[in-house]
Amino acid sequence: MKRMRIALVAAAAASALALAGCAGGGGGGEEPTEEAAPTFEAGTTMAALAEAGEITVGTKFDQPLFGLVGPDGVPVGFDVEIAKIIASELGISEENITWTETVSANREPFIENGQVDIVVATYTINDKRKEVVSFAGPYYLAGQSILVLADNEDIASEEDLVGQPVCSVTGSTPAANLKELGAEVLETDTYSNCLEPLRNGQVVAVSTDNVILAGLADQNPGEFKIVGEPFTEEPYGIGLALEDTEFRTWINDTLEAAYADGRYEEAWNATAGEILPFVEPPAVDRY
Ligand code: GLU
Repeated sequence: MKRMRIALVAAAAASALALAGCAGGGGGGEEPTEEAAPTFEAGTTMAALAEAGEITVGTKFDQPLFGLVGPDGVPVGFDVEIAKIIASELGISEENITWTETVSANREPFIENGQVDIVVATYTINDKRKEVVSFAGPYYLAGQSILVLADNEDIASEEDLVGQPVCSVTGSTPAANLKELGAEVLETDTYSNCLEPLRNGQVVAVSTDNVILAGLADQNPGEFKIVGEPFTEEPYGIGLALEDTEFRTWINDTLEAAYADGRYEEAWNATAGEILPFVEPPAVDRY
């Protein structure tokens, strides 16, 4: 906030000077002091992004509360706010963020081939993914849960999914967990595409992270309900290029600063916090 106020004062001072210039009364005035741009060690990803003044962020486009694209093509949600905090620490304003839709299955490839600079997309940190990308965070701890039709009385926990048709998403940890559990998994590309199969009885449940299911249930009042307790741990990380340790460390520092000064809580309250309680963030893992 303070940062923004300084920028606004600088902008006001600049336009006052410009007006004075038009009126012919300028001259002798000092240049308005601009907000000092953050400086980073040459050769780092931070320096390159700050210099470019833009960043490409991979996020979800169909997940209410975390990343849901609006009619203007710009996504909103908690993941989006986390990405904005990172961008702003690089001196990059919101208009200079390019949002790219990443579905569960293309997050690693998009990072590996440089299509995105970071991924903030309900992205679980795990060892398999760490073989191909790096993760800052975690910045949130979710857990896999179950969504059924509101009038379903048969499914109460993950044990009831064994041998049953259940929808989840290709390339996600919940899809892998369901297979291990012995469910018959119907895979689609996004969680919103699981809702029709649930409505028409092709599957008995949709299973993924509790917070994603909460957003889908909230978006469709009275249609669905969440059952059972979360049965996995899904720590959400920020995906970035493998072994870019300086960038990972810097994002971890940025997250910790946002935890300490209230920006994290503010981001939560403005998005997922509309229906989910605030919980203190987990400690970052500087592996
Ligand atoms: N957090 C899980 C994952 O990263 C499920 C959510 C998602 O697919 O985005 O696979």
